[in-house]
Amino acid sequence: MFKYDVIIIGAGIIGLSTAYKLLVKNPSLKICILEKENEVAKHQTGHNSGVIHSGIYYKPGSLKAENCITGYKLLIEFCDENKIKYDICGKIIIATEEKEIDSLQILFERGNANGLKGTKIISKEEINEIEPNAAGIKGIFVPQTGIVDYKIVSQKISEIIIKKGTVVKFGEEVMDIKTDDIEVKIKTKENNYTCKFVIGCAGLYSDKIARLTNSDTDFKIIPFRGEYYKLKNSAKHLVKNLIYPVPDPEFPFLGVHFTRRIDGMTEAGPNAVLAFKKEGYKKSDFDLNEAMETLSYRGFHKVALKYWKTGFYEIYRSLSKKEFVKSLQKLIPKITADDIEAGGSGVRAQACDINGKLIDDFLITENERVVNICNAPSPAATSCFSIGNTISEKVLLKLK
Ligand SMILES: Cc1cc2nc3c(=O)[nH]c(=O)nc-3n(C[C@H](O)[C@H](O)[C@H](O)COP(=O)(O)OP(=O)(O)OC[C@H]3O[C@@H](n4cnc5c(N)ncnc54)[C@H](O)[C@@H]3O)c2cc1C
Repeated sequence: MFKYDVIIIGAGIIGLSTAYKLLVKNPSLKICILEKENEVAKHQTGHNSGVIHSGIYYKPGSLKAENCITGYKLLIEFCDENKIKYDICGKIIIATEEKEIDSLQILFERGNANGLKGTKIISKEEINEIEPNAAGIKGIFVPQTGIVDYKIVSQKISEIIIKKGTVVKFGEEVMDIKTDDIEVKIKTKENNYTCKFVIGCAGLYSDKIARLTNSDTDFKIIPFRGEYYKLKNSAKHLVKNLIYPVPDPEFPFLGVHFTRRIDGMTEAGPNAVLAFKKEGYKKSDFDLNEAMETLSYRGFHKVALKYWKTGFYEIYRSLSKKEFVKSLQKLIPKITADDIEAGGSGVRAQACDINGKLIDDFLITENERVVNICNAPSPAATSCFSIGNTISEKVLLKLK
């Protein structure tokens, strides 16, 4: 008799929503979540932009597209049921140069292919009706996009699953995992656990958990820090809601943008700088082992060769407020360095394979006693309940 049927590693939004969906499908499951920190959502989930993504960016048929569209609805339902504040304020994506128009059109078509209703190509004049200070020559209005605080969503999920019997253990860093035909043995710094099934939802450390569970997928998490500025109160009038650039199709990030947050603050960012510490939120943060792990990985060498120019520019922009402001001025020409002050930062877990491919889609691997969420970058917070559904279906099949 096992004390726990399932142990989940990580109390970010993916681990929590997976426990939630497992319990919806089988309320009698005994679940334990092991989290190394002393609170939920301490890393990516608690440091993100707070955007409820519509699904417009993602390749039709991809896991990102499917889970974002389904997850969007499930997230809104959850917020309604639990009275969590959100705002479907819509956003604009704007082309500021002629050469971006083709990519803008492709995005619009992707949105249609993904089933979005009401997205609209807008002219310069229409852009200015929505955002009077924005500089686009052509844009897309996406009415579905919204904002929410994912930390609050995570805290609510945690409260619900704990009421339903889930045990969330803080300060428990998983150091070793052994699986055999009968059970899974998990070692943390302090304790030993056994269970029938383990689910890795470790975000920036999903590669470590994959290694511990003998996943044969060769990938590494490359951490990219995203730094934000925020608009001073005196400049808040410059942005009504969300203003995004046309993303570089070669790069898995959306480019620096303006986001009104649900608490009323408006952020500008994030950039994407290689981080030398996985959970390092300051420019000066450095961890020798983690830095060496990235720098010695063959896949990373190929990424560096391919993106060295972008990489150096991101570092330069991270160090130069003047350069950051220049990027923001592409979207809002009026903005000046006096309008912004330093904001927070987040570190994205971006999986990279041995061939130097930055894995764009969500990646989930599985074997007899393990499911591991290897790559869950944006829009994984929006998609959390759909990802939770997918994982729980896989796990329940295996537990039969
Ligand atoms: C800057 C930034 C902006 C973003 N903006 C958006 C957005 O606007 N909208 C959106 O939908 N998505 C956004 N994302 C993506 C989204 O935040 C993430 O995809 C999502 O939070 C991933 O959740 P997670 O649970 O997988 O990871 P995390 O939230 O990182 O949680 C992983 C947890 O695992 C724990 N853990 C790790 N290793 C161990 C171990 N060995 N033992 C025990 N515990 C362990 C960690 O402490 C952590 O709590 C953004 C991400 C970033 C970084």
